[in-house]
Amino acid sequence: PPLRIGLTGGIGSGKSTAAAMFEALGVAVLDLDRVGHRVVQAGSEGLQQLVACFGGQILQPDGELDRRALATLCFADAGHTAQLNRIVHPLIWQQEEQWMALQHGPYVIVEASVLLESGGADRMDRVAVVLADESLRLQRVLARGRQDETAFRAIIARQCDDLMRKQQADYILDNNCTLASLQQQVEQLHAELSCLAADCSK
Ligand code: ATP
Repeated sequence: PPLRIGLTGGIGSGKSTAAAMFEALGVAVLDLDRVGHRVVQAGSEGLQQLVACFGGQILQPDGELDRRALATLCFADAGHTAQLNRIVHPLIWQQEEQWMALQHGPYVIVEASVLLESGGADRMDRVAVVLADESLRLQRVLARGRQDETAFRAIIARQCDDLMRKQQADYILDNNCTLASLQQQVEQLHAELSCLAADCSK
């Protein structure tokens, strides 16, 4: 099987940007945040389990998960967060395994915003972390237009800090500079990982 390389970083660090660069080099990328959404979409077994646990209050009138209501519940009680994770994490891991079984390249990228916080690093052969200073990340997130500063701060508060990321990183991509600089680092890491994968299969 291909080597499993986790790719993570805080909000606005440039994970998705780096992941797209790997993809352009022909590397298969799994977006675990997107998988996490899919396993609790309307009508899913995952959403049924959440409703059984938390009640209909976490549903919107259209049958979709009311993420805000669920977040409020979890914010109020860490026990709820643990319950949520006990339901959702195994469903995500299952999807990851199914996807892995279909992959052939020397290595694949599994991109996830809370890979380290969720203990997912244990499933990875190596972990790559994208780092950028918080002020720069805020600037880029605001320019991206998906979140305002309040939302940015709330997400930062839920994520681990860069010190912890550095401690768990096998590779670091420094995204404090230009996209060209990130591209160059991705290409170098791609060469390194291709080589590592070749060595491992000997
Ligand atoms: P999230 O955790 O919120 O999904 P992310 O880590 O995936 O964020 P990206 O979406 O890749 O971050 O990057 C955040 C924004 O910053 C994007 O709009 C992206 O185009 C931009 N960006 C990323 N890297 C650079 C860079 N080196 N120079 C300028 N802009 C950048």
